[in-house]
This record gives sequence, structure tokens and C-alpha cells, in this order.
Amino acid sequence: MSFVTEDDVFGVAEGLMQSIWRAVRGDELTVPFPRLPYRDAMLRYGSDKPDVRFGMEIVDLTDAVRESEFRVFRATIEGGGVVRCLNASGCAVWSRKDIDTKEALAKKWGAKGLAWAKVGTAGVTGGISKFLSEGEVATIVERASATDGDIILFVADREATVARVLGNLRVVLRDELSLVSPDDFAFTWVTEFPLFARNEETGAWEAEHHMFSMPREQDLEFLETDPGRVLGRLYDLVCNGFELASGSIRIHRRDIQERVMKVVGITAADADRRFGFLLKAFEYGAPPHGGLAPGLDRIIMLLTGEDGIRDTIAFPKTYRGLSLMDGSPSDVEQEVLDELGIRLAEKREPAAGENDD
Ligand code: AMP
Repeated sequence: MSFVTEDDVFGVAEGLMQSIWRAVRGDELTVPFPRLPYRDAMLRYGSDKPDVRFGMEIVDLTDAVRESEFRVFRATIEGGGVVRCLNASGCAVWSRKDIDTKEALAKKWGAKGLAWAKVGTAGVTGGISKFLSEGEVATIVERASATDGDIILFVADREATVARVLGNLRVVLRDELSLVSPDDFAFTWVTEFPLFARNEETGAWEAEHHMFSMPREQDLEFLETDPGRVLGRLYDLVCNGFELASGSIRIHRRDIQERVMKVVGITAADADRRFGFLLKAFEYGAPPHGGLAPGLDRIIMLLTGEDGIRDTIAFPKTYRGLSLMDGSPSDVEQEVLDELGIRLAEKREPAAGENDD
């Protein structure tokens, strides 16, 4: 029996990437690729597909500004939010207008504002600097590795909002400050994604990816009591800010599969009716198994230096979902429908004002 673990899957994928990059670019990729748990990716890069070619990492300040005189920080933390910052290195030269432009972007992405402070030889100046105590400044400067000529950009909000805003800002600064070269390729495995997310409207737990991914062994005990803290053996291969491949180690035990199904609201009777064949197979002793699906269009996009998959996708669709290469969708012969037992419904005319795209 072959035991498939992350090491097995990653090893095969790394070998594949090495041979592609060698053949196409003559580059020798260093393996193994580093592994980054999802939580750290969100904390440090504000993204589950981080560009790790450059630093400028997000810095958490929540514990350091809990008592801050800047009311927004205090109130946000009291409300369960976080305060994080980015050090835009060398950007203390920004004018008020430059800062306003960044604030407008931050607001567009969902932030309530973008606080800032410039770093000089004698501490910080401008923006919210007058509200920061000496101790707070020392912590911020130290954690953000800030020096004379830098500007610190702060966002206080719900954790997901802060991650999105600072993550996007980091990418904007990357491009504005030319921090990366298109000839650099930095591969990373992002691992340990949450298995479940709560549907904000219904309050029900749903599988983040799908319900066949294996929970981490150490999280099994929380399946019933605290599904939100259960991390899964899911992984993405990320390069330069793009997800190139995605996969998981699958569940191979009936008891675990049934417990996961229960979390997402599938009763035992339903499970048996819909997935009985699978559960039965697990009982007979399915081997541990997992896999990975690479996105060839994304890989070719990176290799050809394109910034979208429009030119590298095999069967591009128009925004109306038409496939120009093969002319689909097209009419289907009645005989084919009969054979498959499909009866077509009359097309409903869109109501006035309704978009029919
Ligand atoms: P105000 O007190 O509204 O004039 O804001 C002072 C500064 O704090 C401005 O630069 C705002 O953009 C910024 N600001 C307001 N709310 C937030 C927030 N939630 N996170 C980060 N900065 C904020």
C-alpha cells in the first residue's frame, strides 16, 4: 500500500516544476519549495497567494496599541478587530496628495481609513504620530524594521479586511517601487487552510473547498465542538502571487467522512443515499490518497510573462460564456436528448430591466 502524504505530492509537483522551468527557461529551481501555513500567509502577506519575491511584510500591532491614545485603534481592538501596518520603505517623500491616493484605494478595498506616520531620525512625524506614545513608536519601528525615510501605513478593522487592504497595498507598492523582477520566480506551498467557513447569512457551516479533504489529525477533536478551528490538509502551489496548482489529502476513513458530512448538515441517511458507495469503499480499506491539479494556463501565463490567462487559456470564453473556438453553446440534436432522457424547458423571457447576459 502506498501512503500518500503531502511530502509525496509536493515532491512530484516540485520535480514537475523543475523540469518545466529547466526546459522552457533554462532555470534551475531550488527544491523543496518553502511551506507557509494559510494563517501565516494571511497575517504576513494578507493573501492566500502571496508574492514572496519581496519582503515588506505586514506587521501586527494589536497587542502594542491596545491602550493607544488614537481612539480608532483602541475602539477597533475593543470591538474584536486588529491593527496592522506596512512599512512603505523610502516613501516618507510622499506628498499629502500621494497619501490621499493610497487612502482612497484603501477605502475602495473596504478600509475605513489609512492612518500613517513618517519615520525620521528623531522618531515619527505627521499623520497620527502625535497620538503615539514613545513606547508604541519604539515597538512599531522595531517590528516594521523602519528607518529614516520610511512611512508606516496602518489599518484598523476586522482581521479579514485588514488582510485584504494591506495585502493589496503591498502589491501596489511592489509595482510602484519596482521591487521585483519578472525573471524571478518564488514558489511557495500554502498549507493548512481552514476546512469550514460559516455562511454569514444562514449561519450554517460549509466546506471551504469540498467535504472530502482530510482534517489535520490534531484538529479531529474539534470537528463537533468548534468546526471553525479545524484546519485541513489542503494545499496550493503559489508563485509570484498566482495560484498554480491546488489539491488535498483526501479522507479515507468512513468515521471521519461521516463526521465531516455532519458538520456541513448532511444527515446519516442522506450520506448513505448520496455517498453510500464511497463510505462503503472506505470500510473495505481505501488507502490514504491525495493529489494536486495544476492550472496549465496560469503556468504558461507566468512563463510567457503575460499578466492574465486570456492569451494562454486553451478554450477562451467571451464574457457571455460563448466559446469562439468550437462555437458552443450550440443546438443539440433531439435524438441525443432522448437518449439521455433530457427534456428542455421553454426559455423564460427576461423581465423588463432584467439583464439577460
Ligand atoms: P480622522 O480621525 O477620521 O480624521 O482620521 C485620522 C486618520 O486615521 C486618517 O488618516 C484616517 O484615514 C485614519 N483612519 C480612520 N479610520 C481608520 C481605520 N479604521 N484604520 C486606519 N486608519 C484609519
